[in-house]
Amino acid sequence: MTISQLPSVHDCSATGCSYNHDAGCHAGAITIGGAHAACGTFVQISFRAGIERTGVVGACHRTDCSHNAGLECGAASVQVGGKAGDPADCLTFTSA
Ligand code: SF4
Repeated sequence: MTISQLPSVHDCSATGCSYNHDAGCHAGAITIGGAHAACGTFVQISFRAGIERTGVVGACHRTDCSHNAGLECGAASVQVGGKAGDPADCLTFTSA
């Protein structure tokens, strides 16, 4: 996989995140990990952040997901949103 093939964040419902603009992720790249496939890039700061393009999944620690290969995500794209009490989880997680 090359950097240009990293999956995009198709949509994100964590509108409280500083990287979220109009239900889209604008972080350069996010990292997924933790007990509930949590988005480790989620942050709530008093200003909007990020870049003028849709964020991608730069790394993922969920080796128990069927899309994961070598700690990278092989899904075509992912959806992020609240789940299991976390404000931002990868909703595309599929148990391997
Ligand atoms: S779909 Fe699976 S491998 Fe891709 S970011 Fe989500 S949890 Fe990680």
